[in-house]
Amino acid sequence: MSGLKIAVCIKPVPSPDQYHRVGIDPRTKTLVREGIPTVINPLDKNALEAALQIREKCGGTVAAISMAPPAAEENLREALAMGADEAYLLSDRAFAGSDTLATSMVLAAAVKKLGPVDLVLTGNESADGGTAQVSAQLGEWLGYPHLMHACGLEVMEDGFIRVDTAREDCRVAYRVKLPAVVSVVRTINKPRFTSLMGVIAAGKKPLSVWTSGDLPVDENFLGLEGSPTKAGDIYQPDLSRRCELLEGSAGEIAGAVLQKLRAAGLQL
Ligand SMILES: Cc1cc2nc3c(=O)[nH]c(=O)nc-3n(C[C@H](O)[C@H](O)[C@H](O)COP(=O)(O)OP(=O)(O)OC[C@H]3O[C@@H](n4cnc5c(N)ncnc54)[C@H](O)[C@@H]3O)c2cc1C
Repeated sequence: MSGLKIAVCIKPVPSPDQYHRVGIDPRTKTLVREGIPTVINPLDKNALEAALQIREKCGGTVAAISMAPPAAEENLREALAMGADEAYLLSDRAFAGSDTLATSMVLAAAVKKLGPVDLVLTGNESADGGTAQVSAQLGEWLGYPHLMHACGLEVMEDGFIRVDTAREDCRVAYRVKLPAVVSVVRTINKPRFTSLMGVIAAGKKPLSVWTSGDLPVDENFLGLEGSPTKAGDIYQPDLSRRCELLEGSAGEIAGAVLQKLRAAGLQL
């Protein structure tokens, strides 16, 4: 099969060295990320690399899609510098506080607007929410077959794709009719680095910003209000623990531990 149209979902996540700055909004119980630098979700770089390798083999185009605040334009420019042909930033205050169902609905609306897409690639999970729910939901909204844990992809001649999936102790291979949604794991490939030429070329590639008004979204599933998942309470667990250093020979320490466990009421 040649000339595939591939869409890759790219989630901007807080930069790991900035996690300490991520707060919680006491009213909406959602994460406060404003002003915190973001990076491309690591597994989404694997998804993008997989798309670029398919394009190199079969031809076609690669579009990167993010539902995120305006600052995510920088992350999409990085995806263009890695080699994506075009990028779409789905950005609207109406999307704020979206749970996975609301997020996947907006992503599906963007894929529908892009017109016939042959393959949608995502990471298996994000580094922040980490629910691993979005890609399967995306498949449901689009009515496409969807597979997770992909560690190998091969486009076949007859409009099918072979997907190798990683299990604890084995690999299971599937033959899936396109269009389909596939989420990838880290072992599928080694994402390429962005080159200086890539960064320069990215400046000339199209990056469009779409709001809810530009998308065939389902108003019932929009943002915090439209999200069926309501966070009950979010709090920082008290991680302070009492610590006591025991000294002496191994036998003495073992004896002391036994005594303390018995003092704590354990029948030993
Ligand atoms: C700590 C925490 C816990 C949460 N718990 C829940 C919960 O239990 N239920 C719930 O519904 N929501 C939950 N959320 C909200 C959820 O994170 C958001 O809805 C988020 O946009 C999508 O979920 P995820 O990050 O878990 O995605 P995952 O399903 O883990 O992401 C899988 C892939 O989907 C794609 N993707 C995900 N989000 C985007 C995006 N915004 N733009 C482009 N591609 C994307 C990426 O390719 C990503 O690799 C939680 C958020 C946080 C921070």
